[in-house]
Order: sequence, then structure tokens, then C-alpha cells
Amino acid sequence: MNLIDAEELARTLDAQDVLAPMRAKFDLPADVTYFDGNSLGPLTLRSREVLHHTIDVEWRERLIRSWNEDWLAMPMRVGNMIAPLIGATQDSVISCDNTSINLHKALMSAVELRPGRTEIVIDINNFPTDIYIAQSVADQHGMTLVAVPAEEIIGAISERTAVVTATHVDYRTAKILDAPAITATAHQHGALMVWDLAHTAGAVPFDVSTLDIDFAVGCGYKYLNGGPGAPAFIYVAPRLLAESGQPLQGWWAHAAPFDFELSFRPAPGISRFLTGTTTVLSMKSLEAALEIFSGVSMADIRAKSIGLTGLFIDLFDAHLAPRGFMLASPRESESRGSHVALGFVGGKALVDKMSAQGVIADFRPPDLMRFGFAPLYNSFGNVVSLVHHLLRP
Ligand SMILES: *Cc1c(COP(=O)(O)O)cnc(C)c1O
Repeated sequence: MNLIDAEELARTLDAQDVLAPMRAKFDLPADVTYFDGNSLGPLTLRSREVLHHTIDVEWRERLIRSWNEDWLAMPMRVGNMIAPLIGATQDSVISCDNTSINLHKALMSAVELRPGRTEIVIDINNFPTDIYIAQSVADQHGMTLVAVPAEEIIGAISERTAVVTATHVDYRTAKILDAPAITATAHQHGALMVWDLAHTAGAVPFDVSTLDIDFAVGCGYKYLNGGPGAPAFIYVAPRLLAESGQPLQGWWAHAAPFDFELSFRPAPGISRFLTGTTTVLSMKSLEAALEIFSGVSMADIRAKSIGLTGLFIDLFDAHLAPRGFMLASPRESESRGSHVALGFVGGKALVDKMSAQGVIADFRPPDLMRFGFAPLYNSFGNVVSLVHHLLRP
């Protein structure tokens, strides 16, 4: 497909796009084309509005009264907005802390639930923080961290495994792991499963309930557009909640935080996975951004995501492969998340040059350029324009 035909096709697809109106809910600068929503989602108009209200009214005027009027309920309220995006029931997801801390809590909890087991299995290509956290949990329990490539996870699970953890969509390649098979194998061997949904939530449908996942964690500032440092989330299967503890038993996890009792009694529900005071401003921004998801379906988001990444890969074959770019993401749409990674010698300089021109992507060493295609604000026209920039930066 030549680029003139591609532009024509993109105009047709954009005209038919049911998600096209969502673009107006984002406050992207006119001179920017953004392909990095997989690292930091853009500002929404609602986040701006809600943050101003929080500062001017809830903080400035209402002061401490705002805790009871609104803020105390936020972690649960925001968790319940995230729940439908990952197939969770109400009151089984809570928003708090960051992904690293939530992963630590989930893994510690899982290990305590499987006493006597000696191994934690992890995807060796997982995001480094996940590996560091899993290593620390293993070290604290005198356990072994079994780190293997994604294809070998199933074979590495045994009766020694306490918990298996992996990221559903690989942060580098966007490869989707086989969550049903990995989870089922973990369960067949009596192990628990912790999925990291950092590159899944808000971009790729997931169903913690149908898959019978034990724990899941994920990020608020990527496809959920919560803003820099937005709180993350943690899901715990309701069947495990009563027996699940977590290592950071702070006062917000207490059954009655404002009774100021001297001994710890965990809250009966998912709030036992909280630790301390909520980061209100960040949480407000996340809550406002999540409103967008109540008006769209994850099926439409997924269909458009596949359309955008698929068009980019078609154009890659015709125009970029002959110029020395290498495809590092899966060709099969069912195993591909919402970004596409290209290997390119000199990729760092190219990403920097494009960024100076307002075409923003990112780079992961040694030579991977990553392009995030976010169905809520990227258009098919953006995809063609990206290819133009890659050819003539
Ligand atoms: C982005 C990302 C994180 C981020 O962790 P934070 O603690 O929120 O900084 C963790 N894991 C994966 C797989 C990620 O993609």
C-alpha cells in the first residue's frame, strides 16, 4: 500500500470510528502527535477541571472536612471504576500505592498462603521492577526465584511453586501471554497466580473472574490516563480475601482506622490491602480520567487497537522493513497488545529527533523504539503520519 492510498484508507477508517469522539476529551497540544500513552497517558479535560475543584474547594475551603465528605472513600470508589475494565466484581479492586508496592503486597500474601513451598516463578523478560520485587520476596522467605522466558513458564511450574507472576502484555514487545493456560497450570499444581496488568488495563480486555485469577496489579498512569504518579491498583479474588494478609499493615488497612486501637485488626474487605494515606490529588486526577471508560466498551477499544497496530504493521512491511527497521512485536493480532516495537540501529537518535518535532514515542535499550496506539485518542491518520516521520524525520 503506498502512502497516498494509506491516507485515503485512514480517512475512511477515521470517519467510521465509533471512538473518534473520545479524542475531544483529551487536552493534547495541537502540535503534538502522541504515541507514548503506554508510558504516560495524556491529560484529560476532566482531570484538569476536577483537580482545580479539588484544590480550590475541597482543599482550600473544606479543608480537613473533605476527608469525611469525600476523600476517605476514594480508594474503593476508584477501585470500583477500574473493576469492570479487568472483569472484576465490585469491591474486589482497590486503588493505592504504585505497581511495585502492590506487587510486593500480592506476592507476600500469596507466599503466606502457600507455606512450605520453595519457589516463585517469574517471566525473565518481565519489567525489571517486577523481577526486583519478586527477588526480594524470595530472599525474605529463603525461596528460589525461578526466572524463565514466557514460553517456559508452564514447564517451570511444579509442586514446589508457591506463586507464579508475569505481565500479561510484555512491556517491550507487546506480546500477550497465554493467561488462561499459565493460570490453569499454576492452579493445577496448587500454586497461586499474580498477573501484572500494567499494559493491559484500559487497552486489552482481561477477565480476572472468568480466568479465576488470584491476584492482579496494574498501573494508573498508562492507558488509564491518571497522570504522572497516579495511584496503581490491586485485585484480590474475593474467595481469598478473608485469609489474605499483607506485609504493610498500616492504619488504612485496619478494620476501624479512626478508633486508633493499638493492635492491628485487618479490614474485612479489599481495604485490608491499603497501607496509609491516599495521594488525594493524584487519585482525583485518575478518577476523573476513568470517567471516559464508563462511556465506551472494552470490545470497541480492543477492535480499534488491533486496527491501529495492524495498519502500522502493514505500512511497516511496505515502507519500513526495506529501510532496516525490524518488527519486534507479534504479527498475529490476537497475541499483540496496544503498542508496536521496532528494532532500529540509531533508534534512540530517531526517537529524539521526532520528539523535537512533536511526534512522541519512546525508546528502550538496546535498540527498541516503542509506539503506543491508544484507541481513545489516536487516529488512523496518526498512524500514517507516524510512518511519514519515520521515513523522513
Ligand atoms: C509501568 C510498569 C510498572 C511500574 O511500576 P511503578 O511501581 O508504578 O513505577 C511495573 N510493572 C510493569 C510491568 C510496568 O509496565
